[in-house]
Amino acid sequence: MTSLAALGPPFSIPAAPTPLPAPVRLIGNEALAVELQLPSSLWRGPDATALLAGNRSWPGYAARATVYAGHQFGRYTRQLGDGRALLVAEIDTASGPRELQLKGAGPTPYARGADGRAVLRSSIREYLASEAMRALGVPTTRALSLVTSPLAVQRECTETAAVVCRVAPSFLRFGHFEYHARNGTPEPLAVLADHAIERHFAHLLDIADVFERRALWLTDVIERQARLIAMWQTLGFCHGVMNTDNCSILGLTLDYGPFGFMERFRAHHVCNHSDTEGRYAYAAQPAIGQWNCARLIDACTSLLHDDPAAAAERARALQAVYERAYDRAVMQRWRAKLGLLEVRVGDAALINRLLTLMQQGRCDFTQTFRALGGDDPTAMRTRFAEPEPFDAWLVDWRQRSIAEGSSERERRARMCRTNPAIVLRNDLAQTAIDAAERGDASELMGLVRVLQRPFDEHAVDARYAEPAPAHRPELEVSCSS
Ligand code: AMP
Ligand code: MG
Repeated sequence: MTSLAALGPPFSIPAAPTPLPAPVRLIGNEALAVELQLPSSLWRGPDATALLAGNRSWPGYAARATVYAGHQFGRYTRQLGDGRALLVAEIDTASGPRELQLKGAGPTPYARGADGRAVLRSSIREYLASEAMRALGVPTTRALSLVTSPLAVQRECTETAAVVCRVAPSFLRFGHFEYHARNGTPEPLAVLADHAIERHFAHLLDIADVFERRALWLTDVIERQARLIAMWQTLGFCHGVMNTDNCSILGLTLDYGPFGFMERFRAHHVCNHSDTEGRYAYAAQPAIGQWNCARLIDACTSLLHDDPAAAAERARALQAVYERAYDRAVMQRWRAKLGLLEVRVGDAALINRLLTLMQQGRCDFTQTFRALGGDDPTAMRTRFAEPEPFDAWLVDWRQRSIAEGSSERERRARMCRTNPAIVLRNDLAQTAIDAAERGDASELMGLVRVLQRPFDEHAVDARYAEPAPAHRPELEVSCSS
């Protein structure tokens, strides 16, 4: 099975990391190192930090950067690519192939004049978010390690350099396909799609007809994207930069930047300070997911048949996939959050009524759902701007739930397995960042441990479950990283 790197140009080119001065390993992901079966000489040996900083190359592997394009805030950019994330290793594990990337290891030929570095602040946020999402059951890229250095990096102010080693079966993005659809000859696009199918969607290889196989592959990619965004919505997660170059064909949460777990519920919450138009607001994410899938279908239409009319017909059918998959997935998740098992007419209205009340009451997203599954949901009434409509909602929800015949105790247990007590709140991340900037990684390690058990209230210091204090404005996070 060929790896992407082995396909060579025009998909990727060799690009060496730039050594990081005096690297220090701040944190490492032991469980992931075990999963990857990294030999201890690579993970613990004296050269391990050098390896994870990009100061030494992985045995037998020449680092590479891949090229992609993408729709950024709705506008097409014809060439982006791995400007600062180098593919440094590929590993075959019991769970399939894994690629290792060093993010922030210096500029590549695709850096477009930028420095190729990442800052400690956003590297910590990426590390924490990947761990948090995994524990919440959300598909995500992983983080293996975080190395920092005294090297200063200039952003809005001077910051500290860091390198995250991140891991995924593949970092292929919608943008890779957009790039090859619009640049030069048609062959590379087909080669890339067939490579992705062979390596990451092997269950489709039984389908003899190549056009049908590719259509089913796109269906799978779109359904994964729809299910991913349904998960984000029901956790109050906002990605912040849902450009097509940040969309994984495996349906992973990819490229953590100015993301945020929403605290006070606001449908039009925008977590990215640079997103002045609110293109990627919480409530806009599902439709943006659909728009992004439409861009992928556009890019891949020529792969669907020799005859352009037949290809266009297949593409039209694919355009309907996202909405169906999203609606099914999101309602299934909302129901689960309310502890409901059966599909009933009126479920969407029930959840929308609650969300409206939460918005009016500026209720904390995570705490509200967690408390609904607690001992006494009626005690929450004072959190709502108008308690009476909430009382009425509670009665309707109770009736709906009793009608299903499941016991209150079982429902509560289900809800506690679905609604986390802990999410990565911006101020929790910031506390860990401030300590790490002073050279103290203990906050970061403590926070990782808590995020790894998000449904487990009892193991947790109460401060991790609390929203940011009301008098403090929610932290603003921008694209600069
Ligand atoms: P992002 O906003 O991180 O998703 O990045 C968008 C594009 O800009 C990607 O092609 C990145 O590789 C590139 N990029 C972002 N920051 C840097 C940087 N500091 N140096 C080089 N390339 C960068
Ligand atoms: Mg990106």
